[in-house]
Amino acid sequence: MRLTRKSDTVETKTTSGLGLNRRQFLKSASLATGGIAAASMLGAGMMRKAEAKDVPHNAPTEVKRTICSHCSVGCGIYAEVQNGVWTGQEPAFDHPFNQGGHCAKGAALREHGHGEKRLKYPMKLEGGKWKRLSWEQAINEVGDKMESIRQESDPDSVYFMGSAKFSNEQAYMYRKLAAMWGTNNVDHSARICHSTTVAGVANTWGYGAQTNSFNDIRNSKCMMFIGSNPCEAHPVAMQHILIGKERGAKIIVVDPRFTRTAAKSDEYVHIRPGTDIPFIYGLLWHIFENGWQDDSFISQRVYGMERIQEEVKKYTPEEVENIAGVPKAQMYRVAKMMAETKPGTIVWCMGGTQHHIGNANTRAYCILQLALGNMGIEGGGTNIFRGHDNVQGATDFGLLFDNLPGYYGLTSGAWTIGQMYGISNQAGLKIVLTKVNT
Ligand code: SF4
Repeated sequence: MRLTRKSDTVETKTTSGLGLNRRQFLKSASLATGGIAAASMLGAGMMRKAEAKDVPHNAPTEVKRTICSHCSVGCGIYAEVQNGVWTGQEPAFDHPFNQGGHCAKGAALREHGHGEKRLKYPMKLEGGKWKRLSWEQAINEVGDKMESIRQESDPDSVYFMGSAKFSNEQAYMYRKLAAMWGTNNVDHSARICHSTTVAGVANTWGYGAQTNSFNDIRNSKCMMFIGSNPCEAHPVAMQHILIGKERGAKIIVVDPRFTRTAAKSDEYVHIRPGTDIPFIYGLLWHIFENGWQDDSFISQRVYGMERIQEEVKKYTPEEVENIAGVPKAQMYRVAKMMAETKPGTIVWCMGGTQHHIGNANTRAYCILQLALGNMGIEGGGTNIFRGHDNVQGATDFGLLFDNLPGYYGLTSGAWTIGQMYGISNQAGLKIVLTKVNT
């Protein structure tokens, strides 16, 4: 079977009642390009086929503003384009995060397009050798294979794996592709990095996102890094951290490894892997024991802190030293430093999230900030350094099996009532449902 062309009249089985036959559907969704974008669903000119071109060195240069797609700092870039080819780049001096800075990963960004190891065409492994295919051939082969899988089994036999490297639009389209195919088996790479954060933070604040911004960290007077090593993983963010340090901020690094970030710290806390919660509760033990909590903030803004206080009583300095391996004197010192040096921020990354209790870890970090009254202020907050450049966007746009775009639930009741009240997240929805039910 060949791709449906203008002259083709062959109709195969329609997909999800959309009036598209299966070939049109797959072609529309550019499935063979790794599900990257629904090319023909986008307007003319928004997507075009990549072509290698010769560039005369004296060709006029256009400068286009873009963003580094390596990590979540999202540094601004001025890309130099000649004859349609990205030939050079400069870090953006007027970007609030990188302010003209770049790291080695960002400086190598053009390798995505020009690297000799980059996959430029569809390839197929045949008899142990890679063979180049045309796009038409690739789409036909993948389409036929998917069609036969679907007929032998059902739509749920296919799993659509997206990426936090997708743009918002690509994430949304890929989610739609899975839904139109007829399955909810769809996810993206943040499942193993920050899905624990999204759930933990959403259950605390009502929305699963970083609360402040990279450049706000310079306003902090005390920064605690737990499971985060920005010196190596988010290098340009480090400039804001070091500016904060130059302004007198204290730096606490909590990590089983002595990292390059730890080398810049005032306190390096060497915890045992996986003991984040006993460590945080051990700090809270000192905070409550010494009355260092922010009572007015807690009474105005926090529900249930008295239950945490009860739980925290179990985490005595002796118990925490036994579990986490942190000496009693250091626990006291760190708790006092955080209580006396405000505003303070907590930064975490995959060292805190990639655990079977990652969700509970992220909630514990938030609880510590609530006890100290460090939320909703400049230099405070929970700053969550993601791995890829669009973990947040891909998640917000519903490239997940457990949510629809905008965090609507999967049941029709969830999104219809949410729409009615203009509420799009689960926590907001619970409040509305409680009101409706009472
Ligand atoms: S810090 Fe991140 S976003 Fe900035 S240049 Fe480096 S890899 Fe790119």
